[in-house]
Amino acid sequence: MNNLNDLQNQLIQGQRLSMQGSYQRRAPAKKAVSYLLSARKGLNEYVKQNTDNILAWRLLSLAEEYLLNYNAAIYSLQKVIELGEKDRKDLKRLVMLKEYGGQWQELNMSPEQLESLGTYLEEKIDTYGCDHSLTHTKEWLDGNIPKSKKSKVTKAMQNQGGFCDCEVLMNVID
Ligand SMILES: [Zn+2]
Repeated sequence: MNNLNDLQNQLIQGQRLSMQGSYQRRAPAKKAVSYLLSARKGLNEYVKQNTDNILAWRLLSLAEEYLLNYNAAIYSLQKVIELGEKDRKDLKRLVMLKEYGGQWQELNMSPEQLESLGTYLEEKIDTYGCDHSLTHTKEWLDGNIPKSKKSKVTKAMQNQGGFCDCEVLMNVID
């Protein structure tokens, strides 16, 4: 079974590789994802056995945040706060998570999908440049997102400053 120290080290390793700042709303770098997934899995098992371990809930909350699962990050952070650590920093983080969670929920794409869209756009922009439209973004959406969701996702990208393909790459994905 996992011990908390190992899980914390795994999480730190994932965080180092992820190239994310805090609250940056960007997908973790590919090489970080396996560490983060594995830390999250271990921490989820750990908190089942140790429901009042504040550190474990705190680490789980971070793992979820790095993986852009904001609702799950909020749930774990609320556990930390409930268990008695009413730290101003935690309360502030809760507010930020809710804010970014709302934006991500609106976008409704997984880190893997964002990564795939990013690779697609990089290739297209390298070859054709950006024509100040969402042409290539929409091509990718056509192949990867249910048609019914397309306009909602496009709108969410624009809300995050992605009005053309190069802006999607810059403002939504990076
Ligand atoms: Zn552009």
